[in-house]
Amino acid sequence: MSILFDNAGRQISLAQGSVKIGRGPDNNIVVSDNSVSRHHATIYVASNEAVLRDHGSSNGTFVRGQRINRDQVLNDGEQIKFGSVPFTFHDGSPQPYRDPTVPTSQIARSRPQMPGLATAGRSPAAAKPRSFEAPQARGGTSCPNCGRSFGGGRCCQFCKQVEGLPTGITIASAATRLFALLMEYIVAGIIVGLLFIAASATGANPGDAVAGLASVIALALGATFFVCSIVMFSRGQSPGKYFVGLRVINVQESQAAGFATMFLREFIAKPLIMILSSVTLGIVNFWLVWDRDTQELWDKVVNTIVVSDPLGRTRRP
Ligand SMILES: [Zn+2]
Repeated sequence: MSILFDNAGRQISLAQGSVKIGRGPDNNIVVSDNSVSRHHATIYVASNEAVLRDHGSSNGTFVRGQRINRDQVLNDGEQIKFGSVPFTFHDGSPQPYRDPTVPTSQIARSRPQMPGLATAGRSPAAAKPRSFEAPQARGGTSCPNCGRSFGGGRCCQFCKQVEGLPTGITIASAATRLFALLMEYIVAGIIVGLLFIAASATGANPGDAVAGLASVIALALGATFFVCSIVMFSRGQSPGKYFVGLRVINVQESQAAGFATMFLREFIAKPLIMILSSVTLGIVNFWLVWDRDTQELWDKVVNTIVVSDPLGRTRRP
């Protein structure tokens, strides 16, 4: 089994076949670094050799410090860099004995010795099962919530824990979000309805009492909704989200969105997209159902995700 070691000494086992490396979530090894292209390179792993190919990446793929421009056969102990992210390649030779009592943090530090030791493992005696630990099959970081592999996405593929946020903070379900959205639409609908009643009553009979009452209720409701929104924006919430315990996360900052992001999202991006997409009869509201990170189009515009966080653990300090 061929292995890549990352800079922190973590092992990534390379299955036979093609192993795609890049920043995009559809790669086998996702490297979240700006120097890495979305589809950066592929390692073709066979039983007797591994070949590295760069896919015209912006910042290049390097072997022993040399940028490669053709397929490169990888030797044991080879230093590889995807953009500016270094890895060390090891071929199928058995890994040196690993003392189970030594914490992983120390193993990372002792890693530079491995290329020299690895050749000793080629003798049949050293290949006895108890003499070394099998490489860990780890396809990326493991989830702090359920312990399984994140799966290369922004949230855990199993429990929806969001990477980089406190344990237990999960991506909000599409159903909860649509419910929150629906509640806000109903309030907005009532306001518009009342204004419509007021306008038509005034048109038929200027100075009508019904018109006066309807416009007063509409204005009171509208003002309350607006003030609540403004107050909640600084906590990454809007009235509907507050009601069901959702919070908008600013992806770049890994914490609840602030007032500016929320104002942009709720009062500019969302209405604009809604107006532009009204030709689709509101089907755009259901975009999140098929989206990988349960994002709406306006989430993509302002770079936000929505999580379930009723206790405000993601709130900005
Ligand atoms: Zn998980």
